[in-house]
Amino acid sequence: MVHSEKPVIAVDCDEVLAQFLPALIRYHNAKYSTTLELKDFHSYRFCEVWGGTNEEATEKIHDFFETDHFLRDLAPMPGALEVLESFKEKFTFVVVTSRQHIIEQATRDWLQNYFPNVFSDALFGNHWTKDSPDPNAINATKRTKPEMCQAVNAIAIIDDAPSYAVQCADVVKKVLLYGTYSYNANPEGGLPANVVRTVDWEEFSKTCLPKGLNRHTRRSVSCGLAVIDNST
Ligand SMILES: [Mg+2]
Repeated sequence: MVHSEKPVIAVDCDEVLAQFLPALIRYHNAKYSTTLELKDFHSYRFCEVWGGTNEEATEKIHDFFETDHFLRDLAPMPGALEVLESFKEKFTFVVVTSRQHIIEQATRDWLQNYFPNVFSDALFGNHWTKDSPDPNAINATKRTKPEMCQAVNAIAIIDDAPSYAVQCADVVKKVLLYGTYSYNANPEGGLPANVVRTVDWEEFSKTCLPKGLNRHTRRSVSCGLAVIDNST
């Protein structure tokens, strides 16, 4: 449990902090002689991109976890460290990821390496596991993103997945839908009013966070995290 005097912002890991897909693509193209590119991922359900079943895709992902593509060549998202560090005095940042328990230590090591002392904690949803590859099938080992947001009392989450954005919109004040990816370009069913897009960390820094930066402001501003008025 995170005990914080500062407002807590949950931050997703993959495609927000970590360039997971580019690493996965390098692995997949090398191993399966494919020519996948980032723009090909119109879905984050990978079997819908490269074929086969969801179970087979989950097996592939777990193979990927054991390669250097994942363990050594996973690059951080440009600008993330600088932006998060610049707002560390104002907010407490917690990683809230659907990643599996099986890669929890590797993830914590990666975070410590690329984002030292940025995050107060990291919570793992344990979705997409081998024994339960359907992310919508919640069992005792899994936690939903909204549950994790509530566990840390997050006022906002930054996430690239429209499905998680919609789920979390019910439990946080603001969802920042991160990035311009094929799979988040046109969410089916649209997005709740408290979901706002942010193209990258630079935009997040310049146009979203500053308007909600002052903890004591009572001004109502219409963009980004401005609804985060921590004076209440
Ligand atoms: Mg993600």
